[in-house]
Amino acid sequence: MDKLTEAARHANGLEAGNAERVGTLRRALAGECQDLLIDGAWCPAITGRAFDIDDPATGTIIATAAAGEADDVALAVGAARRAFRDGPWPRLPASKRAALLFALADELEAKVDDLALLESLDAGHPLDSLLNGDIRHGLAALRDNAAWATKLGGETAMQAADQRGANYFLREPVGVVGIITPWNAPFLMTIQKLAAALAAGCTVVIKPSELAPLTAVRLGRACQAVGIPPGVVNIVTGTGAAAGQALAEHPDVNMISFTGSTATGRSIMASSARSNLKRVVLELGGKSPVLVFADTDLPKAAAAIVAEITFKSGQYCAAGSRVFVQSSVYGELLDLMQREMGNVRTGAGYQSGSDMGPMISERQRRRALDIIEHSLEAGARLLCGGQARPGVGYFFDPTIITHVTADMRVSREEIFAPVLVVTPFADDASQAEVADLANDSIFGLSAKVWARDVGIVHDMIARLEAGQVVVNGGGGEAVLPFGGVKQSGYGRENGLAGVSAYTEIKSVRLGY
Ligand code: NDP
Repeated sequence: MDKLTEAARHANGLEAGNAERVGTLRRALAGECQDLLIDGAWCPAITGRAFDIDDPATGTIIATAAAGEADDVALAVGAARRAFRDGPWPRLPASKRAALLFALADELEAKVDDLALLESLDAGHPLDSLLNGDIRHGLAALRDNAAWATKLGGETAMQAADQRGANYFLREPVGVVGIITPWNAPFLMTIQKLAAALAAGCTVVIKPSELAPLTAVRLGRACQAVGIPPGVVNIVTGTGAAAGQALAEHPDVNMISFTGSTATGRSIMASSARSNLKRVVLELGGKSPVLVFADTDLPKAAAAIVAEITFKSGQYCAAGSRVFVQSSVYGELLDLMQREMGNVRTGAGYQSGSDMGPMISERQRRRALDIIEHSLEAGARLLCGGQARPGVGYFFDPTIITHVTADMRVSREEIFAPVLVVTPFADDASQAEVADLANDSIFGLSAKVWARDVGIVHDMIARLEAGQVVVNGGGGEAVLPFGGVKQSGYGRENGLAGVSAYTEIKSVRLGY
């Protein structure tokens, strides 16, 4: 049994043990403000200001972090620039960079229990889902990127046009990278961007979400522990408006790698255009369609659809949230999904037995309720859920909505809550008509197909406008390129495509 599986079993089985560990962690967090990491030193914000971080399961303050602003960002970018221009990191043999990244993975893996508990307290997710999901995938992405470090390179033409000189191209690190991450998967989003940037030889400034920055800070400590040189990894906690925007606008940042909302992605592109045309990789929102054909294994489909929309309480960019189902099995699928939702145990992520934790904030919960209310007023019907759970924390009941139209907010907007909208399509609808329903969205991140007929599967893969198509529940592969088309973003993360985004090509024409 590997360390992660062992830790997941442990997390599930020991309620009393978890409570004690949560208490110890709360006391440790209460005792210190999380500082900024700049040039290898931990320091408060220049203004001395800090902000509060709460536990979404209880709404209570668990920690404070330094409120970095533009001046702090400038110091961090300066440190990253010096480390890039003069420091050893980009000049290390790739095998040494790879070895340090493998060491980082081992260091993090040795402490997975602490990491999972910290993320659970900060972002709300069940321990089991973190250990078997985010952290497992994050470590796989880290090791995969470490392995790419020694394989990145250019190409040489077999023969120069004039038959005597040489034509070839090099790949070089892009430079200083700003990493701006969201709160829904803070560890995973940070580690996969960091891993690719470092493997390519870049230096970074990380701006985690103010709502869940704790594992990013922990990552900084792990980087120091394995000997990644000062200035290579800098961390500025703070708000998006102050620290995030300053990073996106900074003229000495070569690239921003961002995951978050489409609105902020647009703002980052505008910042790039206004400043220095820095490169951008944007992993943005989704409103992913799920197509269920009558010949599929319906109980399996129902279980997977509900598991996905309740994973992270629906706060998951690739979650399938618009279900289209062939009419003849519409009623049966609704019954099965409603039953599955009834079995979802909601509770604090760090409590054993919780399948679904709270949403991240009252603001996000209020937003989901507004979208639902608006759509019910427009004629949609609630099959189950649709409300905030009373009491402490930001819990939300798993929800199914029917009788929707394509123009309702609940069909168009990324709700980021455990909410499914379900619509039947005619048994004799053509595959083109079904694909049109799925593609009727500004987003194109992910699409899911449930069908046994291989002809339907292949046809749908070709027709769906999405960066990823998941068939019959496949997936969970950390090293496949991931990203969207349409307004779901630019570029890809993971795999060769992901790490290559952190490089520039330099062409060389060698005369004689
Ligand atoms: P944001 O896009 O605002 O947040 C993502 C990150 O961007 C955070 O670190 C945030 O900082 C930062 N940020 C905010 N404004 C700027 C800016 N002007 N320049 C640079 N960085 C900035 O998401 P929200 O928290 O507002 O969530 C709103 C909605 O976005 C959600 O309901 C969901 O629909 C979508 N979303 C999608 C995600 C995805 O994975 N695709 C992830 C998160 C949200 P800070 O948090 O400190 O303000």
